[in-house]
Amino acid sequence: MSALATRTGALNLGQGFPDEDGPAAVLDAARDAIAAGVNQYPPGIGAPVLRAAIADHQRRWYGLDVDPDREVLVTAGATEALAATILALVDTGDEVVTFEPWYDAYGALVARAGGVHRTVPLRFPDWRPDHDALRAAVTDRTRVILVNSPHNPTGAVLDADTLALVVELAARHDAIIVTDEVYEHLTFGVRHTPIATLPGAWERTVSISSGGKTFSTTGWKIGWVTGPAALVTSVLAVKQYLTYVNGAPFQPAIAVGLGLPDAFFADTASALRAKRDVLAAGLEAAGFAVSLPGAGYFVVADAAPLGYADGTELCRELPDRAGVVGVPVTAFVHPDRRAAYASLVRFAFCKRREVLDEAAERLTRLAAR
Ligand SMILES: *Cc1c(COP(=O)(O)O)cnc(C)c1O
Repeated sequence: MSALATRTGALNLGQGFPDEDGPAAVLDAARDAIAAGVNQYPPGIGAPVLRAAIADHQRRWYGLDVDPDREVLVTAGATEALAATILALVDTGDEVVTFEPWYDAYGALVARAGGVHRTVPLRFPDWRPDHDALRAAVTDRTRVILVNSPHNPTGAVLDADTLALVVELAARHDAIIVTDEVYEHLTFGVRHTPIATLPGAWERTVSISSGGKTFSTTGWKIGWVTGPAALVTSVLAVKQYLTYVNGAPFQPAIAVGLGLPDAFFADTASALRAKRDVLAAGLEAAGFAVSLPGAGYFVVADAAPLGYADGTELCRELPDRAGVVGVPVTAFVHPDRRAAYASLVRFAFCKRREVLDEAAERLTRLAAR
């Protein structure tokens, strides 16, 4: 869809990357690090300054006590953290439970590890999982419950009851919880609760985050894993032969970002929330039914009220019809279960205000067809 946007000159609300730079202090710190010669292999577990900043961050925001030398691992983005974790934990035939739709890498990684992917559906517009369906999906065959909250593509923030049920089921069936929290700071009036803070969760949870979304540095690929030393060590054993190390000068820069004052995090979230509101209003004015996301970069809209039953077809036509690109939600579900998501389209709002205003204006052309 990004290629389609480039080819047609349409506004790219497909891929979730910001079109503005993040905080100057973070960018300057990377330039300074390069100038100061931080250009060779960093330590395998990550630069000490970043590991300390990650541990401080977990304490400051969530009251979690993390040992920066044994319970933190720096990775090439959340993507490598996910890959190394899945490859470390999942053997042939092991089951991995995720919600559906899911962030696209999950399905590919589980397949690559030889695992069996079980899913629990989230339904438009409130995306709250059915707890009986969750109970039914987790069994003694489950090796990993892979949770993503705030969630991509839906923008849902899992409620406390669902998180508690995940912990209860993981304990009952001796599964590991892997949690992808890359949108932890991009919430809109809802508080993010890391699942690792729940009673009984820490000892069986691998928590994953990244600087990419929080600091608008998606190209830097600085992510991290936190969790009990034994789990972190097994992830490190895989990372050792994936990338070995990554992003030397970007690591101290993300450390600077993690140490920014509370106001930075609050302002970033409220600026993004205002963008969400512009795009959501534009989609509604164009005739879509919108699920207002509680967090993240994306809004999911239903094209059925506009007379489109097939979101994929709409996404192919959107550049011509409205000069905008989106991604069909069916890209994030199993091919056999596309029907339930057929008319849904994901749009990114992590774009400049002018771009969103223009997109909202262009989308009204759809209503006029
Ligand atoms: C963007 C994203 C990632 C990838 O993070 P990187 O740090 O860029 O590798 C992982 N999970 C979710 C849910 C995402 O949206």
